[in-house]
Amino acid sequence: MGGVTELVLTAAAADSTRRGHPWVWSKGIARGPHPLPCGAEVRLVTSSGDPVGRGIYDPDSPIAVRVWSSEHDRPLDHAHLRRKLEHAFGRRRELFQGDATTAYRLLHGEGDRVPGVVIDRYGSIAIVRLDGAGAEAVAGRLKAAFVDALAALGVTDVSLRRADKGATPSFEVWRGAEPPPSVVVREHGVPFVVDLRRGQKTGAFLDQRENRRRVGGMAHGKRVLNLFSYAGGFSLHAAKGGATHVTSVDVAAQAHATAQASFREAGVDPRGHEFASADAFAFLARASERRQTWDLVVSDPPSFAPNEKSRARALAAYRSLHRACREVLAPGGTLCAASCSSHVDAESFLGTLDDASLGSPALSLRELHGPPADHPTLAAWPEGRYLKFAILA
Ligand code: SAH
Repeated sequence: MGGVTELVLTAAAADSTRRGHPWVWSKGIARGPHPLPCGAEVRLVTSSGDPVGRGIYDPDSPIAVRVWSSEHDRPLDHAHLRRKLEHAFGRRRELFQGDATTAYRLLHGEGDRVPGVVIDRYGSIAIVRLDGAGAEAVAGRLKAAFVDALAALGVTDVSLRRADKGATPSFEVWRGAEPPPSVVVREHGVPFVVDLRRGQKTGAFLDQRENRRRVGGMAHGKRVLNLFSYAGGFSLHAAKGGATHVTSVDVAAQAHATAQASFREAGVDPRGHEFASADAFAFLARASERRQTWDLVVSDPPSFAPNEKSRARALAAYRSLHRACREVLAPGGTLCAASCSSHVDAESFLGTLDDASLGSPALSLRELHGPPADHPTLAAWPEGRYLKFAILA
């Protein structure tokens, strides 16, 4: 098979690969000449030699192989990647006709069967992020395929963003110019300033777009509290949706500066609203003491569970957060509670919103949402279903 190394999988790993799970853990490799060099292309077979897929090897990760294709006999080359990108980009073209929304995810890694590679579009700018040394190796080899496919979409500037935790991101320009400090995009017609240089992820949390629109649709005439507000996405949709007053709470003052710039861009005077630089838990405790209430409370915290071990602690944190949110909810109010932790599944998350957790039987679950269609996931890959957005009233 063209010099490709063959790895024999355990029965369980072969079955999971066949069902479309994109990861092979190192313990799933039964036999084979590994460790192999990082980025090596491998052919995955069952113990009886039946091929189940083709992937990229990473010796330093517990995910030993990311599966790129079920077509075991075709190389992971420029042509393969081009086909995948054309398919993924074609879907987005259908989803985002017109110019009401100009920021969205063009490629969602495993969900688009291009493991470890994420591409977000901000108008004519694309920001690439790579997860894992395997993706780095492939992207290094096949950069031209990405750049060509993006150019065909009208993307003029392509940069790879590298960000170690806590460090200022750096950019490797693949095409055109380095990203400007900020850019104005539109989300369902609402303009947003995105901090491309210092912002989180690739600049914005594009996965909450439809949930932000939902909040905008529920906000008319309401007093809104947006906890963990970051760049004010939920806040601005609420204000544009007719909220009488919006309070945004985030520890990061820089995020509020971006949010206020977005308010001004959208023609909403930020001085008519509150931007509190505070810890959300402390803010809620204080508000509760003062008997302050809001008609609509949105809670979208960072992941509380970075790994499986922290799951129990995360559930307790969600529970106390949700209880505190309920305490500042006006009678007849609506609570929108989100979780972006892949280690907390939907049922467990809902368990932190039950009557006992909230301390009252007043609220029912009205809607439960996940990420939008530009963030596809795989049926066989529960680890990919990280985002939950529950609406209770
Ligand atoms: N809702 C946002 C995304 C939220 S990201 C959107 O739609 O775009 C999580 C945010 O929580 C980050 O901005 C981070 O600064 C903030 N944060 C983290 N810990 C916090 C805390 N204890 N109190 C308040 N904000 C916090």
